[in-house]
Amino acid sequence: MKFEIEKQDGLTRAGKITTPHGEICTPCFVAAATKATVKSLSVAQIEELGAQAVLANTYHLLLQPGVDLIARAGGLARFMGYDRPTFTDSGGFQTMSLPGAKISQDGVVFKSHIDGAKITMTPEDSMSAQHQIGADIHMCFDCPIGYGETDTSRASAEKSLRLTHDWAERCLTEHGKLNRQHDKNQQPRQVLYGVVQGGEFTDLRRASAEFFAGRDFDGYGIGGMYTAEQGKEFLPLVNQILPNEKPRHWLGMGAEPRDLFVGVQYGIDTFDCVAPTRQARNGSLYTRGGRINILNARYRDDLAPIDAECACYTCRNHSRAYLRHLFKSGEILACTLASIHNEYFVVNLVDQIRTAILSDNFVEFRDDFLEKYHGAKCAKIDSEEKS
Ligand SMILES: [Zn+2]
Repeated sequence: MKFEIEKQDGLTRAGKITTPHGEICTPCFVAAATKATVKSLSVAQIEELGAQAVLANTYHLLLQPGVDLIARAGGLARFMGYDRPTFTDSGGFQTMSLPGAKISQDGVVFKSHIDGAKITMTPEDSMSAQHQIGADIHMCFDCPIGYGETDTSRASAEKSLRLTHDWAERCLTEHGKLNRQHDKNQQPRQVLYGVVQGGEFTDLRRASAEFFAGRDFDGYGIGGMYTAEQGKEFLPLVNQILPNEKPRHWLGMGAEPRDLFVGVQYGIDTFDCVAPTRQARNGSLYTRGGRINILNARYRDDLAPIDAECACYTCRNHSRAYLRHLFKSGEILACTLASIHNEYFVVNLVDQIRTAILSDNFVEFRDDFLEKYHGAKCAKIDSEEKS
């Protein structure tokens, strides 16, 4: 993998990640393909809406269909018929948030949500599963703060962070071993991102960033920050410590435009989030003027597209009234057309942010976009800082 920065101003940057499955122009919104599919979309639709990469989840694929099958199929990209860059999440967050999950120094023991089978996952197991899934970019098995512990006290946060760091060392060792096997088999090497944690504690965030900056990871995931406010507070701290020349991924973030603007402003290169397609399936659709609920009676006779400025397939071909009709009558096409629009909206927004950075126009673009999206009053809250 190669990462090249094309333009940088403060922490905000535009660049290019090169993987064995092609390039990702950054900043980039990575489509969530948790179970090796972007829900309700075919690969042709994923490509047409402009997604540059997808992120699948190790926990889900481990349970179903099993990682050995994916390895036999030639890896995730071949298995899902998607010849573009792929990421996998470590499975840490999903397994540890299961009811009854038990965390020890060794790893986590949990019950499968499918058949109740008791499964142990160690950092080494996560690495082995991710190498079998064979995505281009892997994440370290981490222990997000607040899981496995009954409280979010200082002591339990410190304990979780110690585990995250111990496990990261073990992931790095195991990953190196597995990559040497790929060399022997003349297969491309896979890359590993360390995952910075630390919860809401400034000194723990700093300690975690320093820990990962001092080790040989190919890039970094930032975990355990799920609001734009947390991003504003901790991303500048963390990203000033992490090596500038390596890519950074904000895990599980990007539900709202301001999350994306905050991330990019403070040095994030890639994002992933299930929200755009999840919200689409509930009829909640993005527009330049904020989100709308297509089920609302006011759209019954509305023959305009979801967003008149949107160039997605759905907006080019269908009206709000048609979408509402599909939802109201329980037609499965509703999910597909709504997901095409929402996913296009965030992917395209991040592409536009990239264009703005490259033309020294990020701040103006951000303020203009957020003012239209939230209305002039709220936009100020989101853009009081000038980068
Ligand atoms: Zn659209």
